[in-house]
Amino acid sequence: MSTPLPLSIWARNISPSPTLAVDAKAKALQAAGEDVCSFAAGEPDYDTPEHIKEACIAALKGGKTKYAPTPGIEPLRQAIVARYELEYGLKAAPAQVIVSPGGKFNCYLGVLAVCSPGDEVIIPAPYWVSYPEMVKLAGAAPKFVLCDDSSGFKLTPARLEAAITPKTRLLILNSPSNPTGVVYSRVELEAIVAVALKHNLYILSDEMYEHLIYDGATPTCIATFSPEVAARTITVAGFSKTYAMTGWRIGTTLAPLPIAKAITELQSQMSSNVATFAQYGALAALTEREKTKAAVTTMLTAFDRRRKNLHAALNGIPGVSCLLAQGAFYLFPNISSFGLKDMDFCNRLLESEKVAAVPGSAFGAEGYLRLSYATSDAIIAKGVERLTRFCATLRK
Ligand SMILES: *Cc1c(COP(=O)(O)O)cnc(C)c1O
Repeated sequence: MSTPLPLSIWARNISPSPTLAVDAKAKALQAAGEDVCSFAAGEPDYDTPEHIKEACIAALKGGKTKYAPTPGIEPLRQAIVARYELEYGLKAAPAQVIVSPGGKFNCYLGVLAVCSPGDEVIIPAPYWVSYPEMVKLAGAAPKFVLCDDSSGFKLTPARLEAAITPKTRLLILNSPSNPTGVVYSRVELEAIVAVALKHNLYILSDEMYEHLIYDGATPTCIATFSPEVAARTITVAGFSKTYAMTGWRIGTTLAPLPIAKAITELQSQMSSNVATFAQYGALAALTEREKTKAAVTTMLTAFDRRRKNLHAALNGIPGVSCLLAQGAFYLFPNISSFGLKDMDFCNRLLESEKVAAVPGSAFGAEGYLRLSYATSDAIIAKGVERLTRFCATLRK
């Protein structure tokens, strides 16, 4: 037999998504009849609100089954512009908006639009698992800045400044954060962005969880800071998390015109438009505001209750400490006191107690767990009980 032809450097260098892998393992155990408590979900446990589904069905039946303009149907791009103005007072043109097949793809196209081989991209850790891979697929190099729980999982201007080199091209920010749930204040972001401005960096601001926020905290849209900041900021947001639409694959980018144009051209050769009828569902999420708001409020009330319960329970476990994060649907407890690698901790937890959690090392931060509370109160209660028992055996 001849030696197999080598795969590309892109194929050889990609790491598969560890969060999807843990979730798949938990689901497989469940399918095999095991009673699994999974904290691994990266999506709301709610279904898409009915009015959104209905608008999509109506569009499908009405023949919205053909190609649409690459960056999205015009009414949706207008509705996205309108919601930025309503929520943040931000004025933009529909031409600055691109609708892509999932916020993940919006992020990737944003990276591709501004990064070339040799460039460096600063990624605060813990980070969302896909950022480093996207940067590598653009031929650029990720530069991590570890921001652990002693700094509230937040990048500071000084740490950013220290990581910048003449090759630095882009800074990726994600508030509220996946995996920590942490929300930066406007003041904190302004100080960080000032450093990015000084060094002439682009900013990719992943604001996917902007509406999933608690304790009266307010989301910050970085592009509103000044025209100068807007001119270098690529804002990614979407429908997946806020409206329980993860399977629809629709995300949004708001970018300065030249970048928006570049992203549209990239998308035109890579995926073309998001499923046309699906865009009509997304449109209803933005235009039928009262119905949407009611559905989101129901979900947020449940998330907030679970967040507080889970947080209190975690801090009640000897050896575990957890910050109370104000956004998304994750908590990121510190389990380093047990003296186990977090990967080993997670594997043993799943094997012995059938509790699924994602190790912090998957997000570039060893010694933590990512626990998603986008699951029922009952599973959280049962899962915490098992986790408590597991931790007690480790301390013996
Ligand atoms: C879920 C998520 C996204 C993208 O979600 P899509 O399902 O691709 O729309 C982007 N960024 C972060 C931080 C996320 O958690």
